[in-house]
Amino acid sequence: NPTPLIKRDFISLSDGQNKNMREDNIFRIMQWNLLAQGLCQSSDGFILCPSAALNWCYRQYHILEELLSYSVDIFFLEEVDQFNYIKTCLEKINFDGLFLPKPDSPCLYEAENFGSDGCAIFWKKDKFELIGHDECILLNDAKKKTNQVSLICKFRDLASGKVFLCAATHLKSKPGYENYRFQQGKYLESILREKAAGLPLILCGDFNAEPTELVVQVMKSSELGFRSAYSNLSEDGQEPQYTTWKVRSGKSGKNEEACHTIDYIFYTEKNIKCVKLLKLPTAEQIGPGRLPSYSYPSDHLSLAADFILL
Ligand code: NDP
Ligand code: CA
Repeated sequence: NPTPLIKRDFISLSDGQNKNMREDNIFRIMQWNLLAQGLCQSSDGFILCPSAALNWCYRQYHILEELLSYSVDIFFLEEVDQFNYIKTCLEKINFDGLFLPKPDSPCLYEAENFGSDGCAIFWKKDKFELIGHDECILLNDAKKKTNQVSLICKFRDLASGKVFLCAATHLKSKPGYENYRFQQGKYLESILREKAAGLPLILCGDFNAEPTELVVQVMKSSELGFRSAYSNLSEDGQEPQYTTWKVRSGKSGKNEEACHTIDYIFYTEKNIKCVKLLKLPTAEQIGPGRLPSYSYPSDHLSLAADFILL
């Protein structure tokens, strides 16, 4: 029998002004690096996670359960290497989706792999109409193409007729690549400025960068007027303590623990209001083996927010 999935509640940010807003003006989005199946059983080195919990036969149900638990309307996903599986499942409840693989996915170098990993966006067809999309390969400072991508979709909200943009990205991983991520972020920010042209915009991703890193400051200080949704959780506007928490087998033979915030939901504050957030689980809920585990299928926690287009 599978261990129950970690379940979380939403917290309302309402200041009382939304009381007259009709429920159907609100839509829910989820950001999640759901952990590529091709990487999790080998190169990732999740030393404290039992291998049975990393087996696709086990993980696939928890991934699906996490996707279906919170009545999400738009998903922004990274490390997707099972796009067809997820699409087939979500299609049954009226979602459509797009997938943008990394040009040279590390998954392809694994003996057992399921194809390239990449970014995906899924949306509810009875709420949103896709009116355009772009597949953007990120550049670095030498204007060279890198292995990181951003999938950018333009939607029309069918209820209000309002048009808005959604972008998912997964920046270069690992320490030592801070400047690389900075360059990728600057490039992405310039592309989004051009494409958004004043429209509401939601940018979600695994930035692989803590809040103090330059790439995060690029987004927070952008002319686009981005606010980080999860900075609304604390009184002082700080990001949460963690969006990922894992223990890996280090090169030195010692285990390396990483507990930090590297995943973000950015939204343009002038034309989008954030009214609810999915709380992060406590250390106790996560448990001593950290993530992934029998109780959660990824090393990254999903982030979810309720938004209103203003
Ligand atoms: P990244 O450096 O961005 O990372 C790739 C993946 O590794 C990410 O999904 C990342 O997860 C994960 N990761 C991060 N830290 C660690 C860690 N300490 N241990 C294990 N996994 C980790 O990848 P790139 O897109 O730059 O791709 C790597 C390149 O390496 C490819 O271009 C490919 O050509 C090459 N490659 C070659 C191989 C070979 O056998 N020749 C093998 C693998 C890759 P997260 O973002 O969640 O941190
Ligand atoms: Ca990963």
